This record gives sequence, C-alpha cells and structure tokens, in this order.
Amino acid sequence: MRYLSTRGGMPPATFSEILLGGLAPDGGLTIPEHYPTLAPGELASWRSLSYPELAFAILHKFADDLPAADLRALVDRTYTAEHFLTTAITPTVNLLDEVWLLRLSNGPTLAFKDIAMQLLGNLFEYALLKTGGHLNILGATSGDTGSSAEYAMRGKHGIQVFMLSPYQKMSRFQTAQMFSLPDPNIFNIAVRGVFDDCQDIVKAVSNDAQFKARHAIGTVNSINWARVAAQIVYYFKAWLTVTTRDDQEVSFAVPSGNFGNICAGYIAKRMGLPVRRLILATNENNVLDEFFRTGVYRVRQTDQVAHTSSPSMDISKASNFERFIFDAVGRDPAAVRRLWQQLDTQGFFDLSGTDAARTIAQSGFVSGSSNHADRMSMIRWVHRECGTVIDTHTADGIKVGLEYREKGVPLICLETALPAKFEDSIVEALGHPPERPAGYENIEKLPQRFEVMDVNTDQIKDYIVQHTS
Ligand SMILES: *Cc1c(COP(=O)(O)O)cnc(C)c1O
Repeated sequence: MRYLSTRGGMPPATFSEILLGGLAPDGGLTIPEHYPTLAPGELASWRSLSYPELAFAILHKFADDLPAADLRALVDRTYTAEHFLTTAITPTVNLLDEVWLLRLSNGPTLAFKDIAMQLLGNLFEYALLKTGGHLNILGATSGDTGSSAEYAMRGKHGIQVFMLSPYQKMSRFQTAQMFSLPDPNIFNIAVRGVFDDCQDIVKAVSNDAQFKARHAIGTVNSINWARVAAQIVYYFKAWLTVTTRDDQEVSFAVPSGNFGNICAGYIAKRMGLPVRRLILATNENNVLDEFFRTGVYRVRQTDQVAHTSSPSMDISKASNFERFIFDAVGRDPAAVRRLWQQLDTQGFFDLSGTDAARTIAQSGFVSGSSNHADRMSMIRWVHRECGTVIDTHTADGIKVGLEYREKGVPLICLETALPAKFEDSIVEALGHPPERPAGYENIEKLPQRFEVMDVNTDQIKDYIVQHTS
C-alpha cells in the first residue's frame, strides 16, 4: 500500500513513512493510492473475530509494510479490557426498534478519540524505538483531543507532550483529567487566552522549520492518517454485530466536527462494507451540513464559531474534508489545489452542478444539524424512552439520525463521549448529574500539574527547549 498527497506533490510513501507526519510536504493530506477491497466471503469470515483480531485484519491492509507479528502485538496490547472496560471494546446496545448505540467512549478519557489515539501512542513508540529517534508533540486543545493524546502518550519512550489549553476555559472534569496526570513526559501549559490563541502558537512554532527540525516537534492532530485508519475498524465491528445477512445494509449517524470519524465510515463503505447512509450531524457550527445540502463549502472566521453545548464539534473548517473531496473530484490533485486555493483567497468553493456534486450525491452522505434546545430534548427523550443517559454530542447524532431512519435498515448511532464529561449540560437536561464511571469519582480532588503562561510564542518555545532532553 502506497500513500499519496491529495495535492499531488509527494512521492509515493509507505505507512511507516507517513505515520509520524501531519500534513504532507505540499500542504495536502495523505491518502492511500487505492482503497483495499474485500475478497468474496472475507467480510462473512470476520463474524467470529475479536476486536483486536478484526483490527489486525483491517489495519494490515493499510500498514502492510509493518511486520505482521509486530502489528498484531501492537493491536493486542492496545485493545484490551484493561484500557476499554470490556473485551468487546466498542459494544453495541439496542436503543429502540432497529436503532443501536455504538459505544465508543469507554477508553481512559471517556471519548471516542481514545480508540485511535491509544493505538497511535503504541505505534509512535514502536516507530521511534526502531529508528532511535524521539518526538516532542506540541498540541492545542479545547478539551477532548488534549487529554486523549496525553493518556495515549504518557510514559512512552522517546515521546514528550507539550499541550496548550486555554486557562480556566475547559470543564472542571476535563481540566482535572489532563492536569492530574503525574507522568514526567507530559507538560500542560495553560495559556492566558482562548483556544484559537493556543492553536496560533502551535502554528507559529510549526512554521519555524529550523526550530521544528532541531527539536523534533510533531503533532497528533486529527489529520493523522493512522487515526482515520484505526477508526475504520469499529464501523466493521458494529456492522458485524447488528446484521445477520452478509449483504444487509445499515446506516450510521455520526456527530461530526473535523470529518475524521465519518471519513473512516466513508472509507469502510468504499472497502465494501454494506452501508446505506452516512448521516452527518453537526451542531450550530454547520459548515458540513451546509455543504451536503447545497454543494457550497464555506469556512467560518474563527470569531464566527459558536460556543455550543457540544463543544468538541465547534469548528470553523473540517480539517479531514480534503480527503473526501479528493475522491469526489475524481482523485485529481490539480482540482484539489484549485479548490483549496479558492478557499484561501475567497473563503469558499461551490461544487453544485458539477460532476463532483453528482458523485457526492451517490456517496451515501446525508446531513442535518441541531441546536441547544434539540440536544436538551433529545437527552431527555432518550433517557425516558430507552433508560440511557447520552452526552450532548451523541444527542446531536441521534437527533439527525432519527430524521433519516428507514424501516428495515438498522440505524447505528455513534456515541462519541460519555455524559460524565459534560455534567452541567446533563444537569440542565435531566435535573441530576450523570453517573461517573468507576475510578473518576474524585478526579477534581487530585493534585494538578500545569504551567500558566501568556500568549507568547517565544516564551513557550523557551519552555520547550528547557524541558527537552
Ligand atoms: C472530536 C469529537 C467529535 C467530532 O469528531 P470529528 O472526527 O472531528 O468529526 C464529536 N464528538 C466528540 C465528543 C468529540 O470529541
């Protein structure tokens, strides 16, 4: 399997070669030269596999340059009941007639990002041990990604994490989760500013090529290909769990922000998984819903991004979207370059009426959005009808999913976080706080380690230099 850049300016590379990178050198995203397809009977033969066995069967197709025994060991070490509460890893529970909840949030930080990030931690460590290199991961977070990355990288050889977060702007639970980690390779920097200030500092450091190279600065953001690949697995797992016929179609409802999660579902479909609809749900920040309804992709200014009660979906642009558009324009890198140049200069592109729009119309994507009131009533409704407490992001997904529900087609709604992470919203909806999983009862009382710093790139660079070996 070789990987290309969506903008055409990267020589074909192996999985190992693109593993540690973020953007391709030409500013595009890395993508497989072609999607692996399933042999006849292959899908049916996977029905009896455990999660790690299935993960190996799928990931081996994408990471075929890693020795099979090594990949198997990495996957076995990652997907355990010790890290994900159950051996099913991503259990599926029935909510209503033909409606299922795919539980993805039983990892250490109680959000779906752990599924890919836990594997990434082990893959990074493995790759660095092989080359004898080291990596300083610099990231910015508004909550979920940062903690997921820290829990994946804690204690890993050759890796240090410097995570910027907006000082006093995360939920109490999120703050406690990140700042209570005692591992010496984890550095929390609370910036006196907002999330965008943190993001700008990361960009400024990444644009300093000399500093970046000298201090081996890397990232773990959602455009990392291995994260997308690891997420493909649970689409297969869910399908294998809810279907009985080998050609039976299901639909997935996915709470979306950066288009990473649903991109994995799209690739699963391209590989041959019988998926009828990919139902994309946004909150008030509806860039993607607008695109799938009108063909116009119009990114927002950061000051136009609404701060909502499903904050992990509060995005101005969808950073993985370029992978899907690459396919939609017939894998023509020149067309992708033109569209992203227009995005840079004019802030939008319009595919309506083009061949790409016809391709997209046949891709199975449909979309919808919701607002705060929708989330509150959906949390109450699911609690009353199914006896399950869901979080605000999952509520966005179920709300839009039910709008597209079809008789005879199982609807699988992805749970992207546990309600315990967003306690205030649950209290508002239900009048009482959600249950906390065992081990998290007193997390706010643990000692916290963090450094408070101004919005000052040079000061943060100095801090990194002082704390790297
Ligand atoms: C990151 C996140 C999302 C959005 O996922 P994307 O892959 O960015 O589309 C949705 N819900 C929660 C809880 C998240 O943490």
